[in-house]
Amino acid sequence: MTNWAERAAALYDGGHRRMLIDGDWRDAQSGTVIEARDPATGRLLATVPRGAEADIRDAVAAARRAFEGPWARFTPFERQALLLRIAERVEAEWQDLCLSDTLDMGMPIQRSLANSRRVLGMLRFYAGQAVAIHGLTIPNSFPGEIRSFTVREPLGVIGAIIPWNAPIAGSVWKIAPALATGCTVVLKPSEEASLTVLMLARIMQDCGLPPGVLNVVTGTGPEAGAPLAAHPGVDRIAFTGSTATGRAIAQAAAGNLRRVSLELGGKSPVIICRDADLDRAIPIAAMAVFANSGQICIAGSRLFVDRQIQDEVLHRLADHARALRLGPGVDPETEIGPLISARQAERVQGFLDRGQAEGARLLTGGARAKGPGLEGGQFFQPTVFADVADDMTLARDEIFGPVLSALAFDDLDEVVTRANATPYGLAAGVFTSHLGTAHKLAHRLRAGTVWVNMYHAIDPAVPFGGVKASGHGREGGIEHLDEYLDSKAIWINTD
Ligand code: NAD
Repeated sequence: MTNWAERAAALYDGGHRRMLIDGDWRDAQSGTVIEARDPATGRLLATVPRGAEADIRDAVAAARRAFEGPWARFTPFERQALLLRIAERVEAEWQDLCLSDTLDMGMPIQRSLANSRRVLGMLRFYAGQAVAIHGLTIPNSFPGEIRSFTVREPLGVIGAIIPWNAPIAGSVWKIAPALATGCTVVLKPSEEASLTVLMLARIMQDCGLPPGVLNVVTGTGPEAGAPLAAHPGVDRIAFTGSTATGRAIAQAAAGNLRRVSLELGGKSPVIICRDADLDRAIPIAAMAVFANSGQICIAGSRLFVDRQIQDEVLHRLADHARALRLGPGVDPETEIGPLISARQAERVQGFLDRGQAEGARLLTGGARAKGPGLEGGQFFQPTVFADVADDMTLARDEIFGPVLSALAFDDLDEVVTRANATPYGLAAGVFTSHLGTAHKLAHRLRAGTVWVNMYHAIDPAVPFGGVKASGHGREGGIEHLDEYLDSKAIWINTD
């Protein structure tokens, strides 16, 4: 059996990693660095360059040269072969990639390993799409021999900015469709979790990507993200992160009319109807919010429970929460890892204090977790609140921590209205045994994804994204290709 802790020490020993610009591994021009620390122990894993505007400028210039030069000469079949090669190498190095995520941002190793279906699936799905991109021949209303048709052209340079909560999946989701369509990429990972993205970049580089097709600039949001978002040489900003940052990026892009895709935050409702199969619903609803310590955009953080079954559901949910095993991600038994940082733990605690002050009833959790193996890490108890009202902070703000807020409802029309009464619209979950209720709620909930009698399913072939303040644009599926392609209309007078 793999000894993850031993392997962890060998993977990162406090040394320095460089970023990738124009096929070279470089330091920041400023010479400064950012420390990457394990949130489960505080151990220094590595340092990475603290890139800034000058590095972004070089990376965008390299991406433009590659887009117009060698990369443009790759045929769709060559791009497909490259993506398939990358998939093979990612599969071969999967354990190290997952371990890197676990160390850098705390995700339990079992959870990162389980992501292979999705990540390898994305690379292979978009490899398939690379040779399936085509335009249309379109009849027109002109008399005579005038033909009109479209070709689909790659947009150009994609400026991708991602958060820290799922580095492998988050970066592959931006890169794979870009490579499939013939775009080039400047990727700015989160300053909280850059290491796995650098590892992925090395794998992709080794697979034969021409210099400049993929550039990774590490650095902070204000110093490296903002100049990327404002750079006139970027054709689309593909951003995943908080709604506040997304808003700033959309504002920066408005000035130069650049296209923007935004995958933002959420406050997703999960509805348990009185006819639900509770043996199925309870563990799924619990992990809908506790998985990854609640640090998931789709966290089902507002739980609407039919008042008639409320007592039983809350009792069982609290038991489930108490039984979850907290620990460092490298322990294969761990179900709940640490929060990303001390700052995040303080933020979560602030929400809980406010929730109690506003009158919510704490059923379990509510504080930092202590105990053997948890010293030095940012561990937080899975927390369940009952008697939450719609206007409480707990029900309105994205907490990004392991906090479930339960709200009671009496009928379906009422719960739809209340579930939709949020600025967000990323995802929703419904538990019911009634087919009609399933359809009714799935259609009436305003969200980019609705799951019925399940949660968290994300697939390479199925589009994912938000409505309202959860963003716009879709990742995954063939819809994602539209974000990275333009249709050019060509007219030919053959008379
Ligand atoms: P964040 O917005 O603070 O940071 C995201 C990225 O943006 C980071 O790389 C950061 O460095 C960069 N950034 C920060 N300020 C910037 C600026 N002014 N200009 C350009 N870039 C800037 O978010 P976070 O705390 O890293 O991640 C958590 C958030 O991400 C949550 O709100 C979560 O819901 C959201 N998220 C959404 C999805 C989705 O698919 N909808 C997926 C994962 C996370």
